[in-house]
Amino acid sequence: MEKKNIDWGNLGFAYVKTDKRYVSTWKDGAWDAGTLTEDATITMSECACVLQYAQTVFEGLKAYTTEDGRIVTFRPDLNAERLAQSAARLEMPVFPQDRFIDAVTQVVKANEGFVPPYGSGATLYIRPFMFGINEVIGVKPATEYQFRIFCTPVGPYFKGGAKPITLRVSDLDRAAPHGTGNIKAGLNYAMSLHTLMDAHRAGYDENMFLDPATHTKVEETGGANFLFVTKDGKVVTPKSNSILPSITRRSLVSVAKEYLGLEVEEREVLFEEVKDFAECGLCGTAAVISPVGKIVDHGNEICFPSGMEKMGPTIQKLYDTLTGIQMGRIEAPTGWIHEIK
Ligand SMILES: *Cc1c(COP(=O)(O)O)cnc(C)c1O
Repeated sequence: MEKKNIDWGNLGFAYVKTDKRYVSTWKDGAWDAGTLTEDATITMSECACVLQYAQTVFEGLKAYTTEDGRIVTFRPDLNAERLAQSAARLEMPVFPQDRFIDAVTQVVKANEGFVPPYGSGATLYIRPFMFGINEVIGVKPATEYQFRIFCTPVGPYFKGGAKPITLRVSDLDRAAPHGTGNIKAGLNYAMSLHTLMDAHRAGYDENMFLDPATHTKVEETGGANFLFVTKDGKVVTPKSNSILPSITRRSLVSVAKEYLGLEVEEREVLFEEVKDFAECGLCGTAAVISPVGKIVDHGNEICFPSGMEKMGPTIQKLYDTLTGIQMGRIEAPTGWIHEIK
């Protein structure tokens, strides 16, 4: 398929309508066969459950062109599994995990012209999502659902090098203790919009959320997990029931241990400890790792020794190794790379 005429290097992170998307409907207790469609719109009742009670969950993953010209996705089985967990938590039917991977494959193949070429820094972002579509006015789960996947080409996350960002500690929480912080649901994002915009207005890039019960332990940001590096080179990542289990973070933990021979601690991390770390990064599908240079807690600044100019050395190694695996320059662990074509 011929590549679309797109200036790959200058794409941002914004929706670009592609040719085809996948849709499957759950009705009368079963999923239909599912199909690709050119129709990018959805028509529903004003009383649809998703509109009234936010019954919706989503995923995010990417397709890459490798150095040798294959098109691949990274660990889509984990996205399928996480979507199933998110759906179950909101009383939604589970979309079968093998069908999830098949649907991702179909969507990427049907939009091959939109998959950015190797070396452009751009990627194809894939957005699977599911929502309750029938009318619900008394509070209860929907009885009809749509599962959809669209994709959109997105530009290089770091244009002109990864500049460390500045966070502030948020007074508001993104998740409740024993709540829904560990599932990928739109409702967690609606909760975070006010404090995100407030952070931006105050000149910060993102919020650091602390544990909602005691505000003494590090959780995550609005859309990425934390990774810290100690002064003696250990990787530390917070563990909590209200953190979203990032696939990038879990992969970086394996990379740290298996490829770089680093010691990794997955444990509760007190905010008190943060000032003693040497490096800090945020991990998620969008950026892989974005370096954090500074964290501000009500006027008290924590400045990491890695500074505001570049990634710290350990985070850089983690970044280079994982992106090398995704782009086919470094041999991947078994099962990590799903070949589309
Ligand atoms: C999606 C998401 C992440 C990152 O997860 P990945 O699987 O690495 O993309 C982290 N935190 C939150 C709240 C998220 O929604």
